[in-house]
Amino acid sequence: MNYENIQTPCYVVEEDKLIKNLEILKDVIDKTGCHILLAQKCFSMYSVYPLIRKYLNGTTSSGLYEAKLAHEYMHGENHIYAAAYREDEIEEIFTICDHVVFNSFAQWEKYKPLAIKYKKECGIRINPSCSTQEGHAIYDPCAPFSRMGVTKDNFRDDLLEGISGLHFHTLCEQNSDDLLTTLKAVEEQFGSYLYQMKWLNFGGGHHITRKDYDIETLIYCIKHMKETYDLEIYLEPGEAVALDAGYLVTTVLDIVENGMNIAILDTSAACHMPDVLEMPYRPQIVGGYDAKEKPYTYRLGGPTCLSGDIIGDYSFEKPLQIGSKLLLCDMAIYSMVKNNTFNGMKLPAIALKKGETIEIVKEFGYDDFKMRLS
Ligand SMILES: *Cc1c(COP(=O)(O)O)cnc(C)c1O
Repeated sequence: MNYENIQTPCYVVEEDKLIKNLEILKDVIDKTGCHILLAQKCFSMYSVYPLIRKYLNGTTSSGLYEAKLAHEYMHGENHIYAAAYREDEIEEIFTICDHVVFNSFAQWEKYKPLAIKYKKECGIRINPSCSTQEGHAIYDPCAPFSRMGVTKDNFRDDLLEGISGLHFHTLCEQNSDDLLTTLKAVEEQFGSYLYQMKWLNFGGGHHITRKDYDIETLIYCIKHMKETYDLEIYLEPGEAVALDAGYLVTTVLDIVENGMNIAILDTSAACHMPDVLEMPYRPQIVGGYDAKEKPYTYRLGGPTCLSGDIIGDYSFEKPLQIGSKLLLCDMAIYSMVKNNTFNGMKLPAIALKKGETIEIVKEFGYDDFKMRLS
């Protein structure tokens, strides 16, 4: 295994796997004529933007800085949505973005004169109040009292002049049956406005590159909306682009005992994979099984002072050793974009695996910690 020799911790993105995902997405584009954008908040490894650009139409951003990154490295369509825009950033946003989506009619009214000056396509995010997910309320923009999007009751059809599209984002790691349900709600509540729009953005959360994803239903959904209302359709997945396309490689620093064996790694859930604690979930590990399934069980924890900095309990065929390397799976997404230096932790390097070669793209050190403090 050529992971044995790399410095850890390190996020290693596998180019082959990324390409496989991109091919699936490109196929949807080719079969439907829709546009697919990378949601950068999930995956912003800009060294692979030139590769992604060969397959996808561009990017979407959650704010000015992501939009600037796309402007510098992606050179495709540059969409943006934020719950609210700052006055001191909006001019630059209009300069580099082609599609600007507003979260309220108040924001639209405020920035409409600039939108006209810069001749940009503007949209309104709608909230169809249609929850299709259970369990993860923090990922449900349709939960009660959500600040995301304009509900039917607050919709202002008297202010639509200059608006060319609608946007909804309600899914998270979901299949196309939930998209179908959501579209029914969108059509029921907002269908009458769709005839006057040029485009509709289906948001992200479509788990298109997952094995059991029903692509035929997605294609039906896109074609149905495109043909019924004469619309351009946009999808902006994050996860689906880099799903299962990378590992976080880590080394066992120590093994201690306290009622069970506990391995302390050189990577931290709190710092390097915060979704493990936030969501929460238990990542897969190469050669790792459920606790007690194999002879040697360990709790895996980070080197920080946070008692809850625990990745999970795993069992292995053979005992772990100090110096053993472990590969945590599906760590390209929502990892390097969310990491932090709590406890002065070193940030994992970022690498790209091409064929059998691992190329270190970037390494981090003390200065990256110091730079954000004073
Ligand atoms: C998070 C988000 C996305 C991407 O979601 P994934 O779950 O990563 O596919 C797209 N659009 C908006 C508005 C989002 O908030």
